Amino acid sequence: MAKQYAVIGMGRFGTSVASELYEMGYEVLGIDTNEDKIQDAVDFVTHAVTADSTDDNALKALGIRNFDVVVVAIGADIQASILTTLILKELGVKKIVVKAQNELHGKVLTKIGADKVVYPERDMGIRVAHNLISPNILDYIELSPEYSMIEIVANHKMVGKTLQETDIRKKYGCTVMAIKRGEDINISPLANDRIDQGDILVVIGKNDDLQTLEEEA
Ligand code: ATP
Ligand code: ATP
Ligand code: CA
Repeated sequence: MAKQYAVIGMGRFGTSVASELYEMGYEVLGIDTNEDKIQDAVDFVTHAVTADSTDDNALKALGIRNFDVVVVAIGADIQASILTTLILKELGVKKIVVKAQNELHGKVLTKIGADKVVYPERDMGIRVAHNLISPNILDYIELSPEYSMIEIVANHKMVGKTLQETDIRKKYGCTVMAIKRGEDINISPLANDRIDQGDILVVIGKNDDLQTLEEEA
Protein backbone atom coordinates (compact mmCIF):
# COMPACT_ATOMS: atom_id res chain seq x y z
CA MET A 1 0.00 0.00 0.00
CA ALA A 2 1.18 3.51 -0.75
CA LYS A 3 2.55 5.42 2.20
CA GLN A 4 0.16 7.58 4.15
CA TYR A 5 1.12 11.02 5.38
CA ALA A 6 -0.40 13.43 7.86
CA VAL A 7 0.52 17.10 7.96
CA ILE A 8 -0.32 19.14 11.06
CA GLY A 9 -0.50 22.88 10.42
CA MET A 10 -1.68 24.16 7.06
CA GLY A 11 0.45 27.32 6.97
CA ARG A 12 2.59 28.04 3.93
CA PHE A 13 5.12 25.32 4.70
CA GLY A 14 2.61 22.63 5.68
CA THR A 15 0.49 23.43 2.64
CA SER A 16 3.47 23.11 0.35
CA VAL A 17 4.50 19.73 1.82
CA ALA A 18 0.94 18.39 1.77
CA SER A 19 0.05 19.46 -1.76
CA GLU A 20 3.32 18.15 -3.19
CA LEU A 21 2.78 14.72 -1.58
CA TYR A 22 -0.81 14.69 -2.82
CA GLU A 23 0.28 15.57 -6.35
CA MET A 24 2.77 12.71 -6.24
CA GLY A 25 -0.17 10.40 -5.58
CA TYR A 26 0.09 9.80 -1.85
CA GLU A 27 -2.72 9.86 0.63
CA VAL A 28 -2.47 12.97 2.78
CA LEU A 29 -4.39 14.00 5.87
CA GLY A 30 -4.27 17.72 6.60
CA ILE A 31 -4.93 18.95 10.14
CA ASP A 32 -5.34 22.51 11.43
CA THR A 33 -7.15 24.26 14.27
CA ASN A 34 -8.21 26.96 11.86
CA GLU A 35 -11.39 26.07 9.95
CA ASP A 36 -10.65 28.47 7.10
CA LYS A 37 -7.31 26.79 6.51
CA ILE A 38 -9.09 23.42 6.42
CA GLN A 39 -11.66 24.74 3.93
CA ASP A 40 -8.81 25.78 1.63
CA ALA A 41 -6.91 22.52 2.15
CA VAL A 42 -9.78 20.40 0.83
CA ASP A 43 -8.53 21.06 -2.72
CA PHE A 44 -5.05 19.61 -2.26
CA VAL A 45 -5.24 16.88 0.40
CA THR A 46 -7.13 13.60 0.60
CA HIS A 47 -8.78 14.47 3.91
CA ALA A 48 -8.79 17.75 5.77
CA VAL A 49 -9.79 17.87 9.43
CA THR A 50 -10.21 20.66 11.94
CA ALA A 51 -8.49 19.55 15.14
CA ASP A 52 -6.09 20.74 17.81
CA SER A 53 -2.97 18.58 17.76
CA THR A 54 -2.16 19.41 21.38
CA ASP A 55 -5.23 17.35 22.29
CA ASP A 56 -4.05 13.74 22.40
CA ASN A 57 -7.60 12.39 22.25
CA ALA A 58 -8.26 14.26 19.03
CA LEU A 59 -5.13 12.77 17.48
CA LYS A 60 -6.02 9.31 18.72
CA ALA A 61 -9.51 9.61 17.24
CA LEU A 62 -7.93 10.42 13.87
CA GLY A 63 -5.92 7.20 14.04
CA ILE A 64 -2.70 9.18 13.77
CA ARG A 65 -0.69 6.11 14.79
CA ASN A 66 -1.51 4.44 11.49
CA PHE A 67 0.20 7.07 9.36
CA ASP A 68 3.67 6.24 8.11
CA VAL A 69 4.93 9.78 8.51
CA VAL A 70 3.53 12.74 10.42
CA VAL A 71 4.83 16.21 9.59
CA VAL A 72 4.45 18.89 12.28
CA ALA A 73 4.33 22.20 10.42
CA ILE A 74 3.23 24.44 13.26
CA GLY A 75 5.18 27.67 13.08
CA ALA A 76 4.95 30.45 15.58
CA ASP A 77 3.48 28.48 18.48
CA ILE A 78 6.62 26.67 19.66
CA GLN A 79 4.84 25.27 22.69
CA ALA A 80 2.16 23.66 20.51
CA SER A 81 4.84 22.28 18.22
CA ILE A 82 6.74 20.67 21.12
CA LEU A 83 3.62 19.34 22.80
CA THR A 84 2.34 17.89 19.53
CA THR A 85 5.66 16.16 18.87
CA LEU A 86 5.65 14.68 22.37
CA ILE A 87 2.11 13.37 21.97
CA LEU A 88 2.89 11.84 18.56
CA LYS A 89 5.92 10.15 20.07
CA GLU A 90 3.89 8.76 22.96
CA LEU A 91 1.20 7.52 20.59
CA GLY A 92 3.91 5.54 18.80
CA VAL A 93 4.01 7.33 15.44
CA LYS A 94 6.74 5.69 13.35
CA LYS A 95 8.26 8.77 11.80
CA ILE A 96 7.87 12.34 12.99
CA VAL A 97 9.24 15.26 10.95
CA VAL A 98 9.05 18.68 12.55
CA LYS A 99 9.62 22.21 11.32
CA ALA A 100 11.74 24.19 13.79
CA GLN A 101 11.72 27.95 14.29
CA ASN A 102 15.29 28.12 15.53
CA GLU A 103 18.22 26.00 16.72
CA LEU A 104 17.04 25.79 20.31
CA HIS A 105 13.57 24.69 19.27
CA GLY A 106 15.23 22.12 17.02
CA LYS A 107 17.36 20.79 19.87
CA VAL A 108 14.33 20.29 22.08
CA LEU A 109 12.51 18.49 19.26
CA THR A 110 15.42 16.11 18.76
CA LYS A 111 15.62 15.44 22.51
CA ILE A 112 11.97 14.47 22.72
CA GLY A 113 12.27 12.11 19.80
CA ALA A 114 11.56 13.92 16.52
CA ASP A 115 13.06 11.74 13.79
CA LYS A 116 13.87 14.69 11.58
CA VAL A 117 13.96 18.41 12.21
CA VAL A 118 13.81 20.82 9.30
CA TYR A 119 14.57 24.54 9.13
CA PRO A 120 12.93 25.71 5.90
CA GLU A 121 13.47 29.44 6.41
CA ARG A 122 17.12 29.01 7.37
CA ASP A 123 17.81 26.61 4.48
CA MET A 124 16.07 28.81 1.94
CA GLY A 125 17.99 31.82 3.25
CA ILE A 126 21.26 29.95 2.72
CA ARG A 127 20.25 29.05 -0.83
CA VAL A 128 19.24 32.58 -1.67
CA ALA A 129 22.55 33.88 -0.27
CA HIS A 130 24.50 31.53 -2.54
CA ASN A 131 22.37 32.51 -5.49
CA LEU A 132 23.16 36.15 -4.70
CA ILE A 133 26.90 35.50 -4.85
CA SER A 134 26.32 34.23 -8.35
CA PRO A 135 23.06 33.85 -10.26
CA ASN A 136 24.74 30.80 -11.79
CA ILE A 137 24.32 28.94 -8.50
CA LEU A 138 20.91 27.31 -8.84
CA ASP A 139 20.93 25.21 -5.72
CA TYR A 140 22.97 24.60 -2.63
CA ILE A 141 22.64 21.62 -0.34
CA GLU A 142 24.63 21.25 2.85
CA LEU A 143 25.80 17.65 3.26
CA SER A 144 27.69 18.20 6.52
CA PRO A 145 29.12 21.28 8.22
CA GLU A 146 32.16 20.89 5.98
CA TYR A 147 30.86 19.57 2.67
CA SER A 148 28.11 20.66 0.31
CA MET A 149 26.71 20.11 -3.12
CA ILE A 150 25.89 22.87 -5.59
CA GLU A 151 24.17 23.13 -8.93
CA ILE A 152 25.94 25.58 -11.13
CA VAL A 153 25.32 26.76 -14.68
CA ALA A 154 28.42 26.14 -16.80
CA ASN A 155 30.20 29.46 -17.33
CA HIS A 156 32.04 30.60 -20.45
CA LYS A 157 35.33 29.28 -19.06
CA MET A 158 33.90 25.76 -18.89
CA VAL A 159 31.86 25.62 -22.09
CA GLY A 160 33.53 23.65 -24.86
CA LYS A 161 35.98 21.95 -22.50
CA THR A 162 36.10 18.38 -21.29
CA LEU A 163 35.85 17.82 -17.53
CA GLN A 164 39.56 17.18 -17.46
CA GLU A 165 40.28 20.43 -19.30
CA THR A 166 38.19 22.46 -16.86
CA ASP A 167 40.60 21.48 -14.06
CA ILE A 168 37.70 21.54 -11.60
CA ARG A 169 39.16 18.71 -9.56
CA LYS A 170 42.75 19.87 -9.78
CA LYS A 171 42.07 23.56 -9.18
CA TYR A 172 39.22 23.37 -6.67
CA GLY A 173 39.37 19.81 -5.37
CA CYS A 174 35.70 19.42 -6.31
CA THR A 175 34.08 16.60 -8.23
CA VAL A 176 31.39 16.87 -10.86
CA MET A 177 28.75 14.30 -9.89
CA ALA A 178 26.39 14.90 -12.78
CA ILE A 179 25.82 17.06 -15.83
CA LYS A 180 22.28 18.13 -16.64
CA ARG A 181 21.50 18.97 -20.24
CA GLY A 182 17.86 19.86 -20.79
CA GLU A 183 15.86 16.83 -19.78
CA ASP A 184 18.92 14.57 -19.86
CA ILE A 185 21.21 13.91 -16.98
CA ASN A 186 24.60 12.25 -17.17
CA ILE A 187 25.11 10.75 -13.72
CA SER A 188 28.64 9.44 -14.13
CA PRO A 189 30.48 11.99 -16.20
CA LEU A 190 33.88 10.94 -17.50
CA ALA A 191 37.06 12.91 -17.94
CA ASN A 192 36.40 13.19 -21.68
CA ASP A 193 32.80 14.41 -21.45
CA ARG A 194 32.50 17.85 -22.97
CA ILE A 195 30.51 20.69 -21.41
CA ASP A 196 27.97 22.48 -23.61
CA GLN A 197 26.46 25.92 -23.35
CA GLY A 198 23.55 25.78 -20.89
CA ASP A 199 24.75 22.64 -19.10
CA ILE A 200 24.19 22.49 -15.38
CA LEU A 201 26.89 20.87 -13.27
CA VAL A 202 26.16 19.15 -9.97
CA VAL A 203 29.36 19.60 -7.99
CA ILE A 204 30.33 18.18 -4.61
CA GLY A 205 33.18 19.49 -2.48
CA LYS A 206 34.46 21.25 0.60
CA ASN A 207 32.60 24.45 1.41
CA ASP A 208 35.68 26.66 1.01
CA ASP A 209 36.55 25.11 -2.33
CA LEU A 210 32.98 25.40 -3.58
CA GLN A 211 32.96 29.04 -2.55
CA THR A 212 36.04 29.71 -4.64
CA LEU A 213 34.36 27.98 -7.55
CA GLU A 214 31.16 29.99 -6.99
CA GLU A 215 32.99 33.30 -6.84
CA GLU A 216 34.79 32.59 -10.07
CA ALA A 217 31.57 31.47 -11.71
P1 ATP B 1 4.27 29.17 7.53
O1 ATP B 1 5.55 29.96 7.56
O2 ATP B 1 4.45 27.76 7.06
O3 ATP B 1 3.12 29.86 6.88
P2 ATP B 1 4.01 29.94 10.18
O4 ATP B 1 5.44 29.84 10.60
O5 ATP B 1 3.46 31.28 9.88
O6 ATP B 1 3.81 28.98 8.98
P3 ATP B 1 1.80 29.39 11.83
O7 ATP B 1 0.92 30.18 10.97
O8 ATP B 1 2.09 29.81 13.20
O9 ATP B 1 3.14 29.12 11.17
O10 ATP B 1 1.31 27.88 11.90
C1 ATP B 1 0.99 27.14 10.78
C2 ATP B 1 -0.39 26.56 10.93
O11 ATP B 1 -0.43 25.70 12.07
C3 ATP B 1 -1.49 27.58 11.11
O12 ATP B 1 -2.42 27.44 10.06
C4 ATP B 1 -2.08 27.26 12.47
O13 ATP B 1 -3.49 27.41 12.48
C5 ATP B 1 -1.71 25.79 12.65
N1 ATP B 1 -1.65 25.39 14.05
C6 ATP B 1 -1.14 26.08 15.08
N2 ATP B 1 -1.30 25.41 16.22
C7 ATP B 1 -1.97 24.26 15.91
C8 ATP B 1 -2.44 23.16 16.68
N3 ATP B 1 -2.25 23.09 17.99
N4 ATP B 1 -3.08 22.15 16.02
C9 ATP B 1 -3.27 22.21 14.68
N5 ATP B 1 -2.84 23.23 13.93
C10 ATP B 1 -2.20 24.25 14.52
P1 ATP C 1 41.87 10.72 -10.91
O1 ATP C 1 42.40 9.73 -9.94
O2 ATP C 1 42.21 12.15 -10.55
O3 ATP C 1 40.40 10.56 -11.20
P2 ATP C 1 42.33 9.45 -13.43
O4 ATP C 1 43.35 9.59 -14.50
O5 ATP C 1 42.00 8.13 -12.88
O6 ATP C 1 42.66 10.47 -12.25
P3 ATP C 1 40.26 10.22 -15.25
O7 ATP C 1 38.89 9.72 -15.05
O8 ATP C 1 41.05 9.77 -16.41
O9 ATP C 1 40.98 10.10 -13.90
O10 ATP C 1 40.20 11.78 -15.31
C1 ATP C 1 41.34 12.59 -15.55
C2 ATP C 1 41.13 13.92 -14.87
O11 ATP C 1 39.90 14.50 -15.29
C3 ATP C 1 41.00 13.82 -13.37
O12 ATP C 1 42.20 13.83 -12.68
C4 ATP C 1 40.21 15.06 -13.08
O13 ATP C 1 41.06 16.17 -13.05
C5 ATP C 1 39.29 15.18 -14.26
N1 ATP C 1 37.97 14.60 -13.96
C6 ATP C 1 37.48 13.40 -14.36
N2 ATP C 1 36.23 13.19 -13.89
C7 ATP C 1 35.91 14.30 -13.20
C8 ATP C 1 34.76 14.70 -12.47
N3 ATP C 1 33.67 13.93 -12.37
N4 ATP C 1 34.77 15.91 -11.87
C9 ATP C 1 35.85 16.70 -11.95
N5 ATP C 1 36.97 16.37 -12.62
C10 ATP C 1 37.01 15.19 -13.24
CA1 CA D 1 6.81 31.37 8.82
